[in-house]
Amino acid sequence: MKYFSLNDKSHTSNFENAVIRGLAPDKGLYFPEEVQKLPNSFFMNIRTKDKIEISFEAIKNYVGDEIPNSELINIINKTVDFDFPVVEVMENIGTLELFHGPTLAFKDVGAKFMAGSLGYFIKKGNIEKITVLVATSGDTGGAVANGFLGVEGIEVVILYPKGKVSGIQEKQLTTLGKNITALEVDGNFDDCQAMVKRAFLDHEVTKRRKLTSANSINVARWLPQMFYYFFAYKQLQEKNKQLVFSVPSGNFGNICAGLLAREMGLPIDNFVASNNANATVTKYLETENYDPQPSVQTISNAMDVGDPSNFVRILKLFNEDYSSLKQNFSAYSFDDEKTKTAMKEVYAETGYLTDPHGAVGYLGLKKFMDNNPDYYGIFLETAHPVKFLDTVEKAINNKVEIPDSIKDLMDKQKKSLQIKNYEDLKGYLLS
Ligand SMILES: *Cc1c(COP(=O)(O)O)cnc(C)c1O
Repeated sequence: MKYFSLNDKSHTSNFENAVIRGLAPDKGLYFPEEVQKLPNSFFMNIRTKDKIEISFEAIKNYVGDEIPNSELINIINKTVDFDFPVVEVMENIGTLELFHGPTLAFKDVGAKFMAGSLGYFIKKGNIEKITVLVATSGDTGGAVANGFLGVEGIEVVILYPKGKVSGIQEKQLTTLGKNITALEVDGNFDDCQAMVKRAFLDHEVTKRRKLTSANSINVARWLPQMFYYFFAYKQLQEKNKQLVFSVPSGNFGNICAGLLAREMGLPIDNFVASNNANATVTKYLETENYDPQPSVQTISNAMDVGDPSNFVRILKLFNEDYSSLKQNFSAYSFDDEKTKTAMKEVYAETGYLTDPHGAVGYLGLKKFMDNNPDYYGIFLETAHPVKFLDTVEKAINNKVEIPDSIKDLMDKQKKSLQIKNYEDLKGYLLS
């Protein structure tokens, strides 16, 4: 499969180089040259297929022959080796739980698939060694650390803002050791992100190390997220209703993968992008004017993004046609007060515990279904509520039970290097 840059179509790449580079040389995001429909028989028979078969058929075209089938199946095997259940929460509303992976948030799938693909290309010998350099506001760090742990030829360097990630999130990225290094930055997420960007442009650094990123701009992290929607459809087909999915969105990688699945023929009628106070896309749908804003901090911190990178891919999927986008895509935005109230109400009425991101998804879904009552609706639970323990316990005014795996994690020793500025980062990367 060929990919082209969304800045300039003449910048093309195969899958391998798109994975290794992350961004095209002109800083554009890569997009597949062709989005093929899957045959009808695939959807008719989806109930008889397991997760591996579904994932393989869905992603095969995007990888082409650059990874042999047997190897691709190995990678998929490791990527989806946990459950993706749809749980009915109330009448005509279910949630797709994406938090059963090792770091309890949906990013495990993308991180593992990317680690597997990159690991394969290194093993094949086309690149020798690579450093994955990534800034995290919380969930990306843990998923990337876990996904890349022990992969030969890859060193992972994670920057995270000191004191601004949750206790569990910090342990997930600072306790693994081996090829994972955590740098604790005296600053906020934007500072971490700025340092990472600067390192990518610093020739002294890039002469010494081949760098790549591991956020959802990378096609190997973005594309496998479409698996969730196929897995959910398999569980929902018998409802025989129009389907709407509400996706708690930050950088819009996850929802963009859902829209890609739809383009491939998956019968999901509508998508709702549910946002917190970072409402750039919500405002775009109201005004047709895309006006990115600095991010504001909220209790659903993995969605604190003021200029979502993947939105250009969504526009491309709709051929940059605003009115066709509006037919199948809505966006709503909710502040922290509404989010907390939703967590409390859903818990009180149904006993189901949402995390702050899932709660925003629930609110978006409700709003859509108020005007479209004939649908069956799904909101994505993108993280396990214990990842946001303080916020959740305060909202429901009750204790949350902590899984054993998390208790073990909390007993592990944190290991990080403290850095203050770009010179410190550069010093580390050159050492
Ligand atoms: C990353 C993340 C999101 C946002 O996903 P995008 O693909 O960036 O839109 C939502 N919820 C949780 C829990 C996350 O970790």
